[in-house]
Amino acid sequence: SYHRERPPAVRTHTLQPRHALSLVRNLGILAHVDAGKTTLTERILYVTGATHKRGEVHDGTTVTDFDPQERDRGITIFAAAVSCDWDGHRVNLIDTPGHVDFFDEVERSLRVLDGAIAVFDAVAGVEPQSEAVWRQADRHGVPRIAFVNKLDRAGADLDTAIASIRERLHTVPLVVQMPIGQEDAFTGVVDLLRMTALHWDGGTYERRPVPDALRDEALRRRRILEEAVAELHPEALEEFCATSTLSERTLATALREVTMSGEGVVVLCGSAYRDRGIEPLLEAAVAYLPSPLDVRPVRGTHGGAVEERAADPAAPLAALAFKVTATATGRLTYLRVYSGTIRKGDAVLDTGTHRTERVGRILRVQADRHEDVDRAVAGDIVAVIGLKTARPGTTLCTPSAPLALEPPTVADPVVSVA
Ligand code: GDP
Repeated sequence: SYHRERPPAVRTHTLQPRHALSLVRNLGILAHVDAGKTTLTERILYVTGATHKRGEVHDGTTVTDFDPQERDRGITIFAAAVSCDWDGHRVNLIDTPGHVDFFDEVERSLRVLDGAIAVFDAVAGVEPQSEAVWRQADRHGVPRIAFVNKLDRAGADLDTAIASIRERLHTVPLVVQMPIGQEDAFTGVVDLLRMTALHWDGGTYERRPVPDALRDEALRRRRILEEAVAELHPEALEEFCATSTLSERTLATALREVTMSGEGVVVLCGSAYRDRGIEPLLEAAVAYLPSPLDVRPVRGTHGGAVEERAADPAAPLAALAFKVTATATGRLTYLRVYSGTIRKGDAVLDTGTHRTERVGRILRVQADRHEDVDRAVAGDIVAVIGLKTARPGTTLCTPSAPLALEPPTVADPVVSVA
């Protein structure tokens, strides 16, 4: 059989401290079919995997290579959620269908994610399907950033795509990058916040000064960004009126708050296929999109009474099953944990069937393997093996503190800015 050195005994104080929750992002990628969601997801997993240190002990678990006998490479393709690590953050990518025909599935995924990256094709701009999913996300109050993909394609035009975001999505595009070179010659972007140029060469990128030839254009676009932000954000407006400019710091704070309130959308660009723009996209996702702590506590009912539960690992468990898949490893039930802690071996009450079931294994699905963890806490997204009857939409909770999670109230803002 397969043996590897075991990690040191699991410490007892392994619960994620509250601040660790601020480092979690539960994100979906919303895209029209063909906009490049699959390619982008793969590149994100590649880029984050490349920086991932294997065998490092964190949160009381150790990342181990998967037992070859258990290897289930197909799992990522069918995974409802894939986890990766970026710059000290855990990013869980929740699969979201790109087609309105899957309305219910989109609803379910919008329910468990806290923020999203909307992907558009730089040639086609905003397409009808994307408009529909955008409105669905609006109704759920899901904060979003936008990625205009395929800038390397013939006919790609960022400005036209931005205009279609403004017109078709009825939102204010806050464009934080300017492309360097067009179509085949698209090689990088100017970061309009830091006023530096990012150049990709093969799989790596470099930060350089903005080329002289692009300086005026970059300043002009920085100005447009500052004006748009000032119009949406009172403190930014004050600074803009007083100094007729906005500091990088004010811009960053305002962009986050405007993203959270949904008044505007940060727009980045790149080419997933050519590996350009992925790192700044991840940086923006982590900077502007909410953590589980920024999201309103979930509500549920218990014996007719409405109860709220905050994202607190010490609270009773409330987890929503949002997808069930059959794999070679077993029946996987994907869970979003909203409050409390779920441990391997726990008995949990299924509020759908009123049965108590036992948690066999808890898995974090990674790019090409899954990692067994001994617990998952509020804010986490994991897959559980051992639940025989739990169905998507059901709540799993502590048997002594039952709660059935309500669907989020549409039109209620989900997000509160702390
Ligand atoms: P999905 O349907 O949204 O998952 O899109 P895919 O990731 O499958 O991409 C659809 C097609 O667009 C594929 O042929 C990709 O190779 C291609 N594609 C994806 N990203 C890019 C890009 O940045 N540039 C170009 N030129 N093609 C891309």
